[in-house]
Amino acid sequence: MKKHNFSAGPCILPQSVFQKASEAVLNFNGIDLSILEISHRSKDFVEVMEKAQALALEHLQLENKGYKALFLQGGASMQFLMAAYNLLEKKAAYLNTGTWSSKAIKEAKLFGELVEVASSKDQNFNYIPKNYSIPSDADYFHCTSNNTIFGTQMKSFPETDIPLVCDMSSDIFSRELDFSKFDLIYAGAQKNMGPAGTTLVVVKEEILGKVSRQIPSMLDYQVHIGKDSMFNTPAVFSVYVSMLTLKWLKDQGGIKAIQKKNEEKAALIYREIDRNPLFTGFVANKEDRSTMNATFNLTDESLSETFNNLWKDAGVNGLNGHRSVGGYRASMYNALPIESVQVVVDTMRELEKRA
Ligand SMILES: *Cc1c(COP(=O)(O)O)cnc(C)c1O
Repeated sequence: MKKHNFSAGPCILPQSVFQKASEAVLNFNGIDLSILEISHRSKDFVEVMEKAQALALEHLQLENKGYKALFLQGGASMQFLMAAYNLLEKKAAYLNTGTWSSKAIKEAKLFGELVEVASSKDQNFNYIPKNYSIPSDADYFHCTSNNTIFGTQMKSFPETDIPLVCDMSSDIFSRELDFSKFDLIYAGAQKNMGPAGTTLVVVKEEILGKVSRQIPSMLDYQVHIGKDSMFNTPAVFSVYVSMLTLKWLKDQGGIKAIQKKNEEKAALIYREIDRNPLFTGFVANKEDRSTMNATFNLTDESLSETFNNLWKDAGVNGLNGHRSVGGYRASMYNALPIESVQVVVDTMRELEKRA
Protein backbone atom coordinates (compact mmCIF):
# COMPACT_ATOMS: atom_id res chain seq x y z
CA MET A 1 0.00 0.00 0.00
CA LYS A 2 1.21 3.50 -0.79
CA LYS A 3 2.69 5.39 2.16
CA HIS A 4 1.26 8.57 3.63
CA ASN A 5 3.85 10.91 2.20
CA PHE A 6 4.62 14.07 4.18
CA SER A 7 7.94 14.66 2.43
CA ALA A 8 8.83 18.36 2.16
CA GLY A 9 10.12 18.29 -1.41
CA PRO A 10 10.33 16.51 -3.73
CA CYS A 11 6.97 15.45 -2.46
CA ILE A 12 3.64 13.83 -3.13
CA LEU A 13 1.90 14.40 -6.45
CA PRO A 14 -1.55 13.10 -7.41
CA GLN A 15 -1.56 9.33 -7.97
CA SER A 16 -3.45 9.80 -11.27
CA VAL A 17 -0.61 12.06 -12.44
CA PHE A 18 1.99 9.40 -11.62
CA GLN A 19 -0.11 6.91 -13.59
CA LYS A 20 -0.42 9.12 -16.70
CA ALA A 21 3.23 10.15 -16.49
CA SER A 22 4.36 6.54 -16.39
CA GLU A 23 2.25 5.73 -19.44
CA ALA A 24 3.80 8.64 -21.34
CA VAL A 25 7.26 7.26 -20.66
CA LEU A 26 6.30 4.16 -22.64
CA ASN A 27 3.94 5.58 -25.24
CA PHE A 28 3.20 9.27 -25.32
CA ASN A 29 -0.15 10.39 -26.77
CA GLY A 30 -0.38 7.07 -28.61
CA ILE A 31 2.41 8.08 -31.01
CA ASP A 32 4.40 4.89 -30.26
CA LEU A 33 7.30 6.89 -28.86
CA SER A 34 8.27 7.82 -25.33
CA ILE A 35 7.95 11.43 -24.23
CA LEU A 36 11.62 11.05 -23.30
CA GLU A 37 12.76 10.43 -26.87
CA ILE A 38 10.91 12.99 -28.96
CA SER A 39 12.10 16.44 -29.95
CA HIS A 40 11.16 19.28 -27.66
CA ARG A 41 10.24 21.10 -30.88
CA SER A 42 7.83 18.40 -32.02
CA LYS A 43 4.17 19.33 -32.24
CA ASP A 44 3.30 16.98 -29.39
CA PHE A 45 5.74 18.55 -26.96
CA VAL A 46 5.16 22.17 -28.02
CA GLU A 47 1.51 21.56 -27.14
CA VAL A 48 2.55 20.38 -23.68
CA MET A 49 4.62 23.50 -23.06
CA GLU A 50 1.88 25.81 -24.30
CA LYS A 51 -0.73 24.05 -22.21
CA ALA A 52 1.45 24.19 -19.09
CA GLN A 53 2.05 27.92 -19.54
CA ALA A 54 -1.63 28.60 -20.20
CA LEU A 55 -2.80 26.58 -17.20
CA ALA A 56 -0.32 28.31 -14.88
CA LEU A 57 -1.59 31.75 -15.93
CA GLU A 58 -5.22 30.59 -15.79
CA HIS A 59 -4.90 29.28 -12.21
CA LEU A 60 -3.26 32.53 -11.13
CA GLN A 61 -5.86 34.60 -13.04
CA LEU A 62 -3.10 36.43 -14.86
CA GLU A 63 -4.21 35.88 -18.45
CA ASN A 64 -4.11 38.94 -20.68
CA LYS A 65 -2.56 41.08 -17.97
CA GLY A 66 0.92 41.45 -19.42
CA TYR A 67 2.42 38.37 -17.74
CA LYS A 68 4.45 35.54 -19.26
CA ALA A 69 4.85 32.07 -17.77
CA LEU A 70 8.22 30.37 -18.25
CA PHE A 71 9.47 26.91 -17.34
CA LEU A 72 13.19 27.29 -16.65
CA GLN A 73 15.93 25.14 -15.17
CA GLY A 74 18.27 25.64 -12.23
CA GLY A 75 15.63 25.45 -9.52
CA ALA A 76 14.31 28.23 -7.37
CA SER A 77 17.92 28.74 -6.28
CA MET A 78 18.77 29.96 -9.77
CA GLN A 79 15.98 32.51 -9.45
CA PHE A 80 17.69 33.98 -6.38
CA LEU A 81 20.38 35.32 -8.68
CA MET A 82 18.37 35.61 -11.89
CA ALA A 83 15.82 37.96 -10.32
CA ALA A 84 18.61 40.24 -9.11
CA TYR A 85 20.51 40.00 -12.41
CA ASN A 86 17.45 41.20 -14.31
CA LEU A 87 16.01 43.73 -11.87
CA LEU A 88 18.66 45.10 -9.54
CA GLU A 89 20.21 48.31 -10.80
CA LYS A 90 21.19 50.04 -7.55
CA LYS A 91 19.29 48.85 -4.53
CA ALA A 92 16.86 46.10 -3.57
CA ALA A 93 14.75 45.47 -0.45
CA TYR A 94 14.37 41.97 1.04
CA LEU A 95 12.32 40.51 3.87
CA ASN A 96 14.24 37.78 5.67
CA THR A 97 11.95 35.00 6.90
CA GLY A 98 14.34 32.08 6.85
CA THR A 99 16.84 29.91 5.05
CA TRP A 100 15.49 30.53 1.56
CA SER A 101 15.20 34.31 1.97
CA SER A 102 18.73 34.37 3.41
CA LYS A 103 20.02 32.54 0.36
CA ALA A 104 18.20 34.92 -1.96
CA ILE A 105 19.73 37.87 -0.08
CA LYS A 106 23.22 36.42 -0.38
CA GLU A 107 22.92 36.16 -4.17
CA ALA A 108 21.36 39.59 -4.64
CA LYS A 109 24.20 41.23 -2.73
CA LEU A 110 26.45 40.42 -5.68
CA PHE A 111 24.51 42.88 -7.81
CA GLY A 112 23.96 45.96 -5.69
CA GLU A 113 23.01 47.47 -2.37
CA LEU A 114 20.72 45.34 -0.29
CA VAL A 115 18.30 46.56 2.37
CA GLU A 116 17.00 43.88 4.72
CA VAL A 117 13.72 45.53 5.75
CA ALA A 118 13.11 43.06 8.59
CA SER A 119 14.25 39.65 9.77
CA SER A 120 12.95 37.00 12.17
CA LYS A 121 16.40 35.50 12.58
CA ASP A 122 16.47 36.60 16.24
CA GLN A 123 13.85 33.92 17.03
CA ASN A 124 15.14 31.23 14.67
CA PHE A 125 12.57 32.39 12.10
CA ASN A 126 9.54 31.27 14.08
CA TYR A 127 7.42 34.28 13.09
CA ILE A 128 6.73 36.59 10.15
CA PRO A 129 7.94 40.17 10.75
CA LYS A 130 5.29 42.85 10.29
CA ASN A 131 5.16 46.65 10.27
CA TYR A 132 8.39 47.21 8.41
CA SER A 133 8.83 49.91 5.83
CA ILE A 134 10.05 49.43 2.30
CA PRO A 135 12.30 52.09 0.78
CA SER A 136 10.44 53.59 -2.16
CA ASP A 137 13.65 54.08 -4.13
CA ALA A 138 14.49 50.37 -4.17
CA ASP A 139 14.31 48.60 -7.54
CA TYR A 140 12.08 45.88 -6.10
CA PHE A 141 10.93 44.18 -2.90
CA HIS A 142 11.51 40.44 -2.45
CA CYS A 143 9.81 38.07 -0.04
CA THR A 144 9.23 34.33 0.45
CA SER A 145 5.53 33.53 0.76
CA ASN A 146 5.90 30.26 2.66
CA ASN A 147 8.80 29.18 4.76
CA THR A 148 9.09 25.49 3.99
CA ILE A 149 11.65 24.78 6.71
CA PHE A 150 10.31 26.74 9.69
CA GLY A 151 6.62 26.42 8.85
CA THR A 152 5.66 30.07 8.63
CA GLN A 153 3.54 31.62 5.90
CA MET A 154 2.85 35.21 4.92
CA LYS A 155 -0.90 35.80 5.10
CA SER A 156 -0.72 39.31 3.71
CA PHE A 157 1.73 41.15 1.51
CA PRO A 158 2.89 44.74 1.79
CA GLU A 159 1.38 47.47 -0.34
CA THR A 160 4.19 49.03 -2.32
CA ASP A 161 4.65 50.93 -5.54
CA ILE A 162 7.90 49.18 -6.41
CA PRO A 163 7.87 45.78 -8.16
CA LEU A 164 6.91 42.91 -5.86
CA VAL A 165 8.98 39.73 -6.29
CA CYS A 166 8.01 36.55 -4.48
CA ASP A 167 9.49 33.09 -4.05
CA MET A 168 6.33 30.95 -3.88
CA SER A 169 8.10 27.61 -4.22
CA SER A 170 6.26 25.88 -1.41
CA ASP A 171 2.77 27.32 -1.58
CA ILE A 172 2.13 28.17 -5.23
CA PHE A 173 -1.34 27.06 -6.34
CA SER A 174 -2.33 26.30 -2.74
CA ARG A 175 -4.40 29.40 -1.91
CA GLU A 176 -6.13 32.31 -3.55
CA LEU A 177 -4.23 35.57 -3.62
CA ASP A 178 -4.48 38.64 -5.79
CA PHE A 179 -1.57 37.48 -7.93
CA SER A 180 -1.76 40.64 -10.05
CA LYS A 181 -0.14 42.46 -7.11
CA PHE A 182 3.07 40.56 -7.89
CA ASP A 183 5.42 41.43 -10.72
CA LEU A 184 7.62 38.36 -10.54
CA ILE A 185 6.65 35.03 -9.01
CA TYR A 186 8.90 32.00 -9.07
CA ALA A 187 8.53 28.47 -7.78
CA GLY A 188 10.61 25.33 -8.04
CA ALA A 189 8.24 22.65 -9.32
CA GLN A 190 8.99 20.01 -6.73
CA LYS A 191 6.87 21.32 -3.85
CA ASN A 192 3.40 21.69 -5.24
CA MET A 193 3.49 21.45 -9.01
CA GLY A 194 5.61 18.61 -10.40
CA PRO A 195 8.92 16.80 -10.31
CA ALA A 196 12.23 18.53 -9.64
CA GLY A 197 13.96 19.89 -12.74
CA THR A 198 11.86 22.83 -13.77
CA THR A 199 10.96 26.14 -12.17
CA LEU A 200 7.91 28.18 -12.95
CA VAL A 201 8.60 31.88 -13.48
CA VAL A 202 5.67 34.25 -13.96
CA VAL A 203 6.83 37.70 -14.85
CA LYS A 204 5.15 40.96 -15.78
CA GLU A 205 6.94 41.95 -18.94
CA GLU A 206 6.91 45.69 -18.28
CA ILE A 207 9.38 45.37 -15.37
CA LEU A 208 12.09 43.92 -17.63
CA GLY A 209 14.77 45.61 -19.70
CA LYS A 210 15.48 48.35 -17.16
CA VAL A 211 18.93 47.41 -15.86
CA SER A 212 22.03 48.70 -17.60
CA ARG A 213 24.19 45.58 -17.20
CA GLN A 214 24.61 43.00 -19.91
CA ILE A 215 22.80 39.79 -19.07
CA PRO A 216 24.05 36.39 -20.29
CA SER A 217 21.39 34.82 -22.52
CA MET A 218 20.57 31.89 -20.25
CA LEU A 219 19.94 34.28 -17.35
CA ASP A 220 17.91 36.81 -19.29
CA TYR A 221 14.14 36.58 -18.82
CA GLN A 222 13.59 38.46 -22.06
CA VAL A 223 15.56 35.86 -24.01
CA HIS A 224 13.45 33.05 -22.55
CA ILE A 225 10.26 34.99 -23.23
CA GLY A 226 11.36 35.56 -26.83
CA LYS A 227 11.83 31.82 -27.28
CA ASP A 228 8.75 30.72 -25.31
CA SER A 229 10.81 28.74 -22.78
CA MET A 230 12.55 26.94 -25.67
CA PHE A 231 15.80 28.90 -25.82
CA ASN A 232 17.49 25.61 -25.01
CA THR A 233 16.10 22.15 -24.37
CA PRO A 234 13.60 22.45 -21.53
CA ALA A 235 13.20 19.78 -18.83
CA VAL A 236 10.61 18.01 -20.96
CA PHE A 237 9.47 15.39 -18.48
CA SER A 238 9.23 17.84 -15.57
CA VAL A 239 7.23 20.26 -17.69
CA TYR A 240 4.94 17.45 -18.85
CA VAL A 241 4.24 16.20 -15.33
CA SER A 242 3.72 19.78 -14.13
CA MET A 243 1.18 20.23 -16.91
CA LEU A 244 -0.63 17.06 -15.76
CA THR A 245 -0.69 18.34 -12.18
CA LEU A 246 -2.05 21.73 -13.27
CA LYS A 247 -4.78 19.91 -15.23
CA TRP A 248 -5.54 17.79 -12.17
CA LEU A 249 -5.83 20.96 -10.12
CA LYS A 250 -8.35 22.32 -12.60
CA ASP A 251 -10.38 19.10 -12.35
CA GLN A 252 -10.38 19.52 -8.55
CA GLY A 253 -12.05 22.91 -8.95
CA GLY A 254 -8.91 25.02 -9.08
CA ILE A 255 -7.13 26.97 -6.35
CA LYS A 256 -10.36 27.98 -4.61
CA ALA A 257 -11.39 24.37 -4.01
CA ILE A 258 -7.92 23.14 -3.10
CA GLN A 259 -7.48 26.01 -0.63
CA LYS A 260 -10.54 24.81 1.27
CA LYS A 261 -9.07 21.30 1.48
CA ASN A 262 -5.67 22.64 2.51
CA GLU A 263 -7.27 24.66 5.30
CA GLU A 264 -9.15 21.59 6.55
CA LYS A 265 -5.95 19.53 6.59
CA ALA A 266 -4.04 22.26 8.42
CA ALA A 267 -6.85 22.78 10.96
CA LEU A 268 -6.89 19.06 11.69
CA ILE A 269 -3.22 18.80 12.59
CA TYR A 270 -2.89 22.16 14.38
CA ARG A 271 -5.95 21.34 16.50
CA GLU A 272 -4.18 18.20 17.68
CA ILE A 273 -0.85 20.01 18.24
CA ASP A 274 -2.68 22.55 20.42
CA ARG A 275 -4.82 20.01 22.27
CA ASN A 276 -2.29 17.26 22.92
CA PRO A 277 -0.04 18.07 25.91
CA LEU A 278 2.78 15.97 24.44
CA PHE A 279 3.21 18.34 21.49
CA THR A 280 4.00 21.98 20.96
CA GLY A 281 3.94 24.02 17.77
CA PHE A 282 7.19 25.59 16.56
CA VAL A 283 5.67 28.81 15.17
CA ALA A 284 5.17 31.56 17.76
CA ASN A 285 2.03 33.23 16.42
CA LYS A 286 -0.90 31.17 15.21
CA GLU A 287 -1.64 33.62 12.42
CA ASP A 288 1.81 32.93 10.92
CA ARG A 289 1.33 29.17 10.74
CA SER A 290 1.76 27.61 7.34
CA THR A 291 -1.06 25.58 5.84
CA MET A 292 1.55 23.71 3.81
CA ASN A 293 4.23 22.80 6.38
CA ALA A 294 3.17 22.28 10.00
CA THR A 295 6.19 22.21 12.34
CA PHE A 296 5.98 20.83 15.88
CA ASN A 297 8.00 19.29 18.67
CA LEU A 298 7.53 16.78 21.43
CA THR A 299 7.32 18.39 24.87
CA ASP A 300 9.23 15.39 26.23
CA GLU A 301 12.12 14.37 23.97
CA SER A 302 12.39 10.98 25.63
CA LEU A 303 9.19 9.97 23.79
CA SER A 304 10.74 10.45 20.36
CA GLU A 305 11.63 6.82 19.73
CA THR A 306 8.14 5.64 20.67
CA PHE A 307 6.52 8.32 18.53
CA ASN A 308 8.80 7.66 15.57
CA ASN A 309 7.97 3.97 15.67
CA LEU A 310 4.26 4.73 15.90
CA TRP A 311 4.10 6.87 12.79
CA LYS A 312 6.49 4.73 10.80
CA ASP A 313 4.44 1.62 11.62
CA ALA A 314 1.33 3.50 10.48
CA GLY A 315 2.87 3.87 7.00
CA VAL A 316 3.85 7.54 7.36
CA ASN A 317 6.88 8.86 5.45
CA GLY A 318 8.86 12.08 5.76
CA LEU A 319 7.63 13.48 9.07
CA ASN A 320 11.03 14.42 10.47
CA GLY A 321 11.72 18.14 10.74
CA HIS A 322 14.46 19.90 8.81
CA ARG A 323 17.85 19.51 10.50
CA SER A 324 17.94 23.24 11.33
CA VAL A 325 14.67 23.05 13.30
CA GLY A 326 14.48 19.47 14.57
CA GLY A 327 11.23 17.95 15.74
CA TYR A 328 8.58 17.20 13.15
CA ARG A 329 7.26 18.73 9.98
CA ALA A 330 4.09 17.62 8.25
CA SER A 331 4.19 18.90 4.68
CA MET A 332 0.64 18.88 3.40
CA TYR A 333 0.86 19.89 -0.24
CA ASN A 334 -2.14 19.94 -2.58
CA ALA A 335 -2.00 16.25 -3.46
CA LEU A 336 -1.90 14.99 0.14
CA PRO A 337 -5.30 13.58 1.14
CA ILE A 338 -6.81 14.54 4.49
CA GLU A 339 -6.92 10.84 5.38
CA SER A 340 -3.11 10.92 5.63
CA VAL A 341 -3.29 13.83 8.09
CA GLN A 342 -5.81 11.85 10.14
CA VAL A 343 -3.33 8.95 10.34
CA VAL A 344 -0.68 11.25 11.87
CA VAL A 345 -3.23 12.74 14.28
CA ASP A 346 -4.21 9.20 15.33
CA THR A 347 -0.58 8.33 16.12
CA MET A 348 -0.28 11.53 18.19
CA ARG A 349 -3.34 10.44 20.18
CA GLU A 350 -2.00 6.93 20.51
CA LEU A 351 1.23 8.33 21.97
CA GLU A 352 -0.79 10.27 24.53
CA LYS A 353 -2.58 7.07 25.56
CA ARG A 354 0.67 5.20 26.00
CA ALA A 355 2.66 7.91 27.74
C1 LIG B 1 12.73 24.29 -1.81
C2 LIG B 1 12.75 25.76 -1.85
C3 LIG B 1 13.72 26.47 -2.58
C4 LIG B 1 14.85 25.80 -3.30
O1 LIG B 1 14.41 25.22 -4.46
P1 LIG B 1 15.44 24.53 -5.49
O2 LIG B 1 14.54 24.22 -6.63
O3 LIG B 1 15.97 23.31 -4.79
O4 LIG B 1 16.51 25.48 -5.82
C5 LIG B 1 13.64 27.85 -2.60
N1 LIG B 1 12.67 28.50 -1.94
C6 LIG B 1 11.72 27.85 -1.22
C7 LIG B 1 10.66 28.64 -0.52
C8 LIG B 1 11.74 26.46 -1.16
O5 LIG B 1 10.79 25.82 -0.45
